Amino acid sequence: RNGGLEYAATRGDGRTGDVITENALRVKGVPRRLRPPFPPVLEVRGEVYIERKDFARINSEREQEGKEVFANPRNLAAGTLKLLDPSAVAARSLRMVCYALGRHEGDVPRTQWELLAFLKRLGFAVPPHAERCGSMNEVLAFIRRFDAVRRGLPFDVDGVVVKVDRFDQREKLGQTSKAPRWMIAYKYEPERAETRVVGIEHSVGRTGVVTPVAELEPVPLSGSTVKRASLHNYEELARKDVRVGDRVLVEKAGEIIPQIVEVLRDERPPDARPVRPPENCPVCGTPLVKREGEVALRCPNRACPAKVEGRILHFVSRDCMDIDGLGPALVRKLVQAGLLRSLADIYRLPNRAAEIAALEGMGEKSAANLAEAIERSKGRGLERLLAALGIPNVGSHTAELLAARFRDIRALMKAKREELESIDEVGPVVAESVLSYFADEANEREIEELEALGVSVRSTARTAPASRPLEGKTVVVTGRLEGMSRKEAEEWLKSLGARVSSSVSSKTDYLLAGEEPGSKLEKARKLGVKTVTLDEMKRIAGEGPPEGR
Ligand SMILES: [Zn+2]
Repeated sequence: RNGGLEYAATRGDGRTGDVITENALRVKGVPRRLRPPFPPVLEVRGEVYIERKDFARINSEREQEGKEVFANPRNLAAGTLKLLDPSAVAARSLRMVCYALGRHEGDVPRTQWELLAFLKRLGFAVPPHAERCGSMNEVLAFIRRFDAVRRGLPFDVDGVVVKVDRFDQREKLGQTSKAPRWMIAYKYEPERAETRVVGIEHSVGRTGVVTPVAELEPVPLSGSTVKRASLHNYEELARKDVRVGDRVLVEKAGEIIPQIVEVLRDERPPDARPVRPPENCPVCGTPLVKREGEVALRCPNRACPAKVEGRILHFVSRDCMDIDGLGPALVRKLVQAGLLRSLADIYRLPNRAAEIAALEGMGEKSAANLAEAIERSKGRGLERLLAALGIPNVGSHTAELLAARFRDIRALMKAKREELESIDEVGPVVAESVLSYFADEANEREIEELEALGVSVRSTARTAPASRPLEGKTVVVTGRLEGMSRKEAEEWLKSLGARVSSSVSSKTDYLLAGEEPGSKLEKARKLGVKTVTLDEMKRIAGEGPPEGR
């Protein structure tokens, strides 16, 4: 605002991010003051990244200090933006490139190409390799040429974004309920590397599923060092026939953990033997079981330390109860020390501050901070708690739906199959998962304990969740809409919680009218139903007209 930084925020999950104003000023490419002349209000969007050499330097420093290293540059950049100490952010050498506008007042460019020059003049760093192409052939030629260029860049690039230059044409093209029609990402083939399998580990997850993981000779790949590759399950392992000693090709696509894509059979050592699935849990020794119709092998022991550890890590994760400071290394120590045997035990930790402070690498201050973080998480509400419990097939979104419908965990625990299935987007699989989860007495006891320890089991949302601003509203669509087919409009409205009806009645809340609306418009007028344009509907939905990204 007026050339100074008013606030900076991360995108977060698309709805809620973090305010990082002080930290943003420590990111290279973000100017302290804009060079005049500038518009009075300007929201600038872009991406924060870190160069490979800085990533390597920070990780090697952490390794020497005995701290956990970052898995990839992306995690490091995201984690750094949330640090509480801005001078620590400055030491991390983050950079930002800007390429889009959000809200603004005053004159701004009307094409992407001019926008980049405009942002650069104001003092922002912009993508240095952007080019304006006159045809799809030029775009494809750029993509081919840039593949060689990107390998020489000091940071990782996995693709190219192709955008329509003119903003007025973007508005005409519009967007589907999921993505704009004027922008597309091209992703390059993921890189591969050759290495050797030095062992097969049998890893037990939070649900007790045992997964074979290949241990590899460390090999650099797409900007990080790969040491392990998932083999998913034992059928996949048998199908690929990966053996200890094999030379293999590994591949890493995006955020996904590396995969073995090919075994080089010709180079197999003569004494390599096929890997057999274990019969007992590698952690607690309990005989493994296979459920009917499933390929997965599971450890059925609820108290298995590997399962407890996995369930706790899921419970405290950012999208769930978001307990800062309970990382993998500490959780492992607490499980081994017998301080964490169930989810409820997390809320007993504040009473055991002395024992925690005595753990290696902790101390009184860390123990007090942890106790505070645990205390804060008690009020996250039913939405987060349901996601945190790790009920199969119930992720954050389904948890929100269930919380909105039942408000209180007691009501959900008593819910009948029909009630569950009557919720939009909840099908028989989710309903069955929820029913069998609460039918287990051990789970019921755990929830009672959590509640007794002060964890809120009620929904925090006073009204419908923000993502469903049309919850409970009935909408009728008529006429031709700009940039959206009838079907897309209906899907979009449903995704916002609206009931879409085909005819106007006194129960209709809105008539969404495009060009040539016909008789429905007349009927709506007669009945006094509110008639809105597409842009007005978007504003009601809190989405506003599409802006240049
Ligand atoms: Zn076990």
